[in-house]
Amino acid sequence: MQKDINSRFSLAGRTVLVTGASSGIGAHLAGVACRAGARVVMAARRVDRLRELAEALRQDGSQTVAVAMDVTDRSSVEAAFDAAEAAFGVVEVVLNNAGIGNGQRVLELSEQEWSHMLSTNLDGVWRVAQCAAQRLARAERPGSIVNIASMLGLRVGTGYSHYCAAKAGVVQLTKSLALELARYDIRVNAIAPGYFTTEMTDGFFDSEKGQAYIHNAVPMRRLGRLEELEGPFLLLASQAGAYMSGSVLAVDGGQLVGSL
Ligand code: NDP
Repeated sequence: MQKDINSRFSLAGRTVLVTGASSGIGAHLAGVACRAGARVVMAARRVDRLRELAEALRQDGSQTVAVAMDVTDRSSVEAAFDAAEAAFGVVEVVLNNAGIGNGQRVLELSEQEWSHMLSTNLDGVWRVAQCAAQRLARAERPGSIVNIASMLGLRVGTGYSHYCAAKAGVVQLTKSLALELARYDIRVNAIAPGYFTTEMTDGFFDSEKGQAYIHNAVPMRRLGRLEELEGPFLLLASQAGAYMSGSVLAVDGGQLVGSL
């Protein structure tokens, strides 16, 4: 029984591509996919850093390769998928995680900042998902796409209008893709994280202001731990979530149900 349950969550023999695998959530979940038995393609712009991370995982016996990918550039995305296929075959699971999170109040927000945010956090997610889905459909293979949205795609936060708009777009994109791709046996779901310490949060939660925020705004009164994203990711990526598509899982210490 235990073995059956574990095998439902296994990614053994699957090819998984993780975008934004050079730090934070992506780096952590790339390691989790390796431990779940997958062949893992780690993608981001900082290739040197990716290579180091991939090498450390290989030392532990994992099959992983680092590929350069800028999600804002179609030819870079296509080239990364070509490299992934050459290494491990058609990509069957995508963790669509690459993103940026620079805050700026709306009155000061420039055209360039708005475009850069949307082009990375929304267009990039669409571009990678479409590229993966086209290749899966062509190969007539089932697949799973897991988009990293945010609780800021479901609620809003001061100084983050561009980020919130992009992440709300990811939520709707996830549902639209789920609808269109179900007939190809490609599932599309999203995770909406609350706050986790990564390069993106840039030490804010160590400050007095950050600590006060956690105490007042997060019902569990603490940040998330990266390992707390492992279960939701494996559920959506593996056969354990075989009948799930179009869902958005909040992993946020209860923040989205905080009292008004
Ligand atoms: P990090 O800053 O640690 O990681 C972001 C990753 O995205 C890096 O690996 C970076 O790699 C990559 N990236 C950024 N721009 C591009 C690009 N144009 N092309 C390819 N890769 C890119 O942050 P997190 O791990 O926290 O963020 C991961 C995801 O989680 C993001 O989508 C973020 O919005 C989301 N999220 C994070 C939360 C948190 O509290 N940390 C909360 C809610 C959502 P490189 O620079 O090497 O390209």
